[in-house]
Amino acid sequence: MNRVYNFSAGPSMLPLEVLRQAQADLLDYNGSGQSVLEMSHRSKVYEEIIYGAQQLLREVYGVPNNYKILFLQGGASTQFSAVPLNLLKNGKADYVITGQFSGKAYKEAQKYGDIRLVASSKDKTFSYIPELSREDFSSDADYVHICFNNTIFGTKFPYIPDTGDVPLVADVSSCMLSEPLDISKFGVIYGGAQKNVAPAGLTVVIVRDDLLGAAAPSCPVMLNWKEQADNDSMYNTPPCWSIYICKLVLEWIERGGGLTALGQRNRKKAALLYKFLDGSELFSNPVRPQDRSIMNVTFVTPDSETNAKFVKNADAAGFVNLKGHRSVGGMRASIYNAMPSEGIEELVRFLGEFERKQALK
Ligand SMILES: *Cc1c(COP(=O)(O)O)cnc(C)c1O
Repeated sequence: MNRVYNFSAGPSMLPLEVLRQAQADLLDYNGSGQSVLEMSHRSKVYEEIIYGAQQLLREVYGVPNNYKILFLQGGASTQFSAVPLNLLKNGKADYVITGQFSGKAYKEAQKYGDIRLVASSKDKTFSYIPELSREDFSSDADYVHICFNNTIFGTKFPYIPDTGDVPLVADVSSCMLSEPLDISKFGVIYGGAQKNVAPAGLTVVIVRDDLLGAAAPSCPVMLNWKEQADNDSMYNTPPCWSIYICKLVLEWIERGGGLTALGQRNRKKAALLYKFLDGSELFSNPVRPQDRSIMNVTFVTPDSETNAKFVKNADAAGFVNLKGHRSVGGMRASIYNAMPSEGIEELVRFLGEFERKQALK
């Protein structure tokens, strides 16, 4: 077996222990004589998996009791539509654009109401997070939408915006379960699980109870959070396998000391890489230091040929998927929960070596 260091932004690395467990369980899950891949979602044995995953997510993420946890499909992108469809009561919402995904969410929401752009960091290629306070938001908005960690540009909100009584909705696709989060500060958080939590196919939505039940009558039933909550996320067939892997990932997080310990490990990993980039003559990170993501680290050299050469050499050396998003170029190392510290140490060593060789030319 020859596993590479995989820096993919998503789908992305899963912990080796989780893959091994899934492999051991593959043909016969827990003495059931069936694979989770084959199981009825209405069976007793599967119910333990889905309810177990939900309960564990509540414990590990500290989800308050007045919030529902939904296991849906369609990716975070489907929630760009579901958010306005479920929450627009008075037809007004505020959006903050800090990257490509929040831009898409904003565009989609415009189909459904009077959507106001509160702030954008497009003026500096999304290299920072705007400072926002309560006065910046409309007090009569149905919600405020932000993207908490910007996967493509490598920024993260260093604070939770104070929106007063207006519910705060956050896309947390690329930072879900990366460190402790005070969920009570949000009305809704949601994310595609394929970044940090599970394989593709599962979308997690965590929504405060009082926000359920306001969906427009025309809201498609599959996008209606209340319908999904009332049916324990099983209005139809849920993404069974991804939910099962999600449960294994949660067990792995718990065994590793929970989110506090994991958050510390993630911060350390990111700090190691940023420290190298800040000291480098060749590589640099374009993000304002206080707004740097600990999950997605972007970097560039001064020219695109050197970038391409680096990506090619890195790939050949077993550091894969380091190419930046197609819309921005450069490089990006996504260093989610499953990336071991050793992966970062090795990457830093490789970056240093590449830099020395370039200097000799
Ligand atoms: C990947 C990503 C998305 C899109 O997720 P899908 O599950 O592919 O729809 C949306 N928002 C953020 C922040 C992401 O990282």
